[in-house]
Amino acid sequence: FLKDRCAVITGSTSGIGLAYAHALAKEGANLVINGILPADDAEKLRSGLESEFGVKALFSPADMTKPDQIAGMIAQAEAAFGAVDILVNNAGIQHVAPIEEFPIATWDMIIAINLTSAFHTTRAALPKMKAKGWGRIINTASAHAFVASPFKSAYVSAKHGIAGLTKTVALEVATNGITVNAIAPGYVWTPLVEKQIPDTMKARNMTKEQVINDVLLTAQPTKEFVTVEQVAALAVFLCTDAAKSITGTILPMDGGWTAA
Ligand code: NAD
Repeated sequence: FLKDRCAVITGSTSGIGLAYAHALAKEGANLVINGILPADDAEKLRSGLESEFGVKALFSPADMTKPDQIAGMIAQAEAAFGAVDILVNNAGIQHVAPIEEFPIATWDMIIAINLTSAFHTTRAALPKMKAKGWGRIINTASAHAFVASPFKSAYVSAKHGIAGLTKTVALEVATNGITVNAIAPGYVWTPLVEKQIPDTMKARNMTKEQVINDVLLTAQPTKEFVTVEQVAALAVFLCTDAAKSITGTILPMDGGWTAA
């Protein structure tokens, strides 16, 4: 049902972003994928998506800390497909450290990638979306858009921020046929989660098993990781006509985490 739509997905070379790409392409959407990947691997990924799903796919190496590169990515999408119909702001990184030891440059980078990049993509994509009178903006927030965990000051701040941006933009475009929502997953097993285990082991003086069971899954009443396919399926639903009245929401998919 998304044939001839163009979906731009930031941070889509891995994890949740790649699952969004698969799920949207499966519905026929053309793709602009993005992320940090060597050119050869990016080309393999791009051509693989085209042949697997029979859609057109472009790769943008835009660095989400660089406003001019972000604007270039949106311009590239519009030049190829006319307009960005579906914008998925998903790129994100994590760093785990007590605030007194949190590197200043890492704070700035997390705010830039996890929050400010969505401001840049949104402002660039909206004029053509508005002109078409249809659009879907989907931001990947987190359970950390609602609640905090220690040692994740930048990430929690950025995710609370993306919730505010989501609601604000939703109000601004409410009469333009554009919905703006965020999905707030709990712990999803992806490279982002896997990579924070060593730092959490250090920060909390724990074994890997203790981090998985006593830190990560302890917050999640289901005691199961959310899957990338489940997150992507919600994004697809948000693109349907049935979802046109859902806007300005932060939708938890967290195994009950934020119910507690
Ligand atoms: P991931 O590490 O698998 O993927 C991150 C993606 O972002 C990759 O494609 C990477 O190349 C890209 N990226 C990183 N820095 C970038 C930059 N400067 N410019 C462009 N792209 C960049 O992580 P993931 O777990 O799939 O996370 C995706 C999103 O989901 C993030 O916003 C994350 O905060 C959010 N999230 C993840 C979880 C989880 O448990 N994994 C839970 C809630 C929210």
